[in-house]
Amino acid sequence: MTNRRSFLSTLMAGPALALSTSVRAISPRKTNKPIIISTWDHGVPANEAGWAILSAGGSALDAVEAAARVPEADPKSRSVGLGGRPDRDGFVTLDACIMNEKGNCGSVAFLQNIMHPISVARKVMEKTPHVMLVGEGALQFALDQGFKKENLLTEESEKEWKEWLKANPPAPKQKINIENHDTIGVIALDEAGNLSGACTTSGASYKLHGRVGDSPIIGAGLFVDNEVGAATATGWGEAVIRIAGTHLVVEYMRQGKSPETACRLAVERLISKNPDYRDIQVGFLALNKAGEYGAYCIQPGFDYAVYDKQTPNKLLKSGSRL
Ligand code: ASP
Repeated sequence: MTNRRSFLSTLMAGPALALSTSVRAISPRKTNKPIIISTWDHGVPANEAGWAILSAGGSALDAVEAAARVPEADPKSRSVGLGGRPDRDGFVTLDACIMNEKGNCGSVAFLQNIMHPISVARKVMEKTPHVMLVGEGALQFALDQGFKKENLLTEESEKEWKEWLKANPPAPKQKINIENHDTIGVIALDEAGNLSGACTTSGASYKLHGRVGDSPIIGAGLFVDNEVGAATATGWGEAVIRIAGTHLVVEYMRQGKSPETACRLAVERLISKNPDYRDIQVGFLALNKAGEYGAYCIQPGFDYAVYDKQTPNKLLKSGSRL
């Protein structure tokens, strides 16, 4: 048995010995892997695609990218990629980011006419020395990488937008909840024990032209630390950015908090900085290195999909503050 005195004497015996002894002294928890979790109900079909990769021994990075591409290509997913609601001037502008187990990341923001921003973000990570490309430059990079330019404004989205214009609403701020659910954030832990994450969105509906939310911002919409865990966010991005939300969730997990508690504490922090919190929705979703997961949000209504060996693709309700 290792007591404090024998642990200290081990430390004094030299670093190599100290490391091997202390590692033996900690009995590791059984890791729940592989696992993939995603925000909202469009997370269910997304997880299917990711699980196909994870269950065949594939990487978390490939799994989260494949998962994110599902709602991006689905015109019925009205907040991601094709069919996403436009900004107030009628342009579909997309934000996405991806992060792997090495802490490498790539991101695109204010990207137009490309159906799979998540794959462009991955190319930014893998093919450039940069983390983030925006607007025209991101589009040019995507075209150079062989992505096709297409119209992403579907008839349905255009019709709704025109109705919205007629109503001449005030500021674009809105509750983002189950009835107009939004960003897909996906995080996964693979058989090798590596974490990765992806996040992709058309952002807040009818936002100001040029607005970028939290989703492509590393540490806001998504953060991965392979030693600790990963987190993603959905909801009113401005509030998430102000507290570097997902970085905060991961730091709470580093302090030993469970994924759900880490998400709850980040929601509490956000509430403390946003007196108007009753008018907005934000949800966090987190996964730790042991494959444990949890979520928390402000308003009731945020749900998330989980796929692991015990839970083959279930939609679960997040705890909420209100
Ligand atoms: N976080 C996204 C944004 O602010 C929208 C959402 O997830 O609901 O752009």
